[in-house]
Amino acid sequence: MLEALTSLIALQALDTAADAARRRINDMPAAERALDAAMVAAKVVVDEARAKVEANAAARRTLEKDVATIDGRMAKFEEHKAAVKTNQEFQALNHEIEVAQTTKSTLEDQILALMDEADSFNSALKDAEGVLAGRRRAADAERAAMNVDRKALDAELAQLASQRTAATPAVPAAILAKHDQLLKSRKGLAVAAMVAGHCTACHVRLRPHVEQQVRRNDSILPCDSCQRILYYVTPPGPPANDAPADPAPPATI
Ligand SMILES: [Zn+2]
Repeated sequence: MLEALTSLIALQALDTAADAARRRINDMPAAERALDAAMVAAKVVVDEARAKVEANAAARRTLEKDVATIDGRMAKFEEHKAAVKTNQEFQALNHEIEVAQTTKSTLEDQILALMDEADSFNSALKDAEGVLAGRRRAADAERAAMNVDRKALDAELAQLASQRTAATPAVPAAILAKHDQLLKSRKGLAVAAMVAGHCTACHVRLRPHVEQQVRRNDSILPCDSCQRILYYVTPPGPPANDAPADPAPPATI
């Protein structure tokens, strides 16, 4: 094979590997944003659950104050009982006490309902905090793994770049310029194999005489359609133990 062609194939392998490494690095900010978004969503659920717990506790405190006020009022009613002179006053006072007791009982029912509700709100808050903590742990682990990957990919890119620098002198400057131009215009793929007379990059069938020339691997030839530099790989030979040429006779009954 022409030395420049061998070098171009090696260059393409290095460039493809570098593209893959760069793509993985470029995908990382989006992955980090997704981790942040998952954390924010879990924190919103925690904040909402905590707001319910706090609102419930505040409502209970208000009702408990109301109950204390009623207790104070009822104590005063009891004190007044001693000073009551007429039956009418006594009945009026008893009525006040009944009203106060009914109100207190209603408030106490509401407090009990709020306490029941508080149990489910507290349990929802605990669950939400558990989810948030789990996501934080997962995000920390994923970020740490991403940092390790990023360092490894940076090192790989540096190594690929130095391998590329070492490989380029074997390619004549004009061909290298053409190759680099193709690399930019053809989405990072400048060199393609020809298989069964087709360019494997654009899948166009090559003209027979181009196919014949490419098969020789002794010159730099562009694809008829995409202009990528073509090379030919000899297909693997037949397996060592070939099946017999004649099919087996049909089994007789
Ligand atoms: Zn092509």
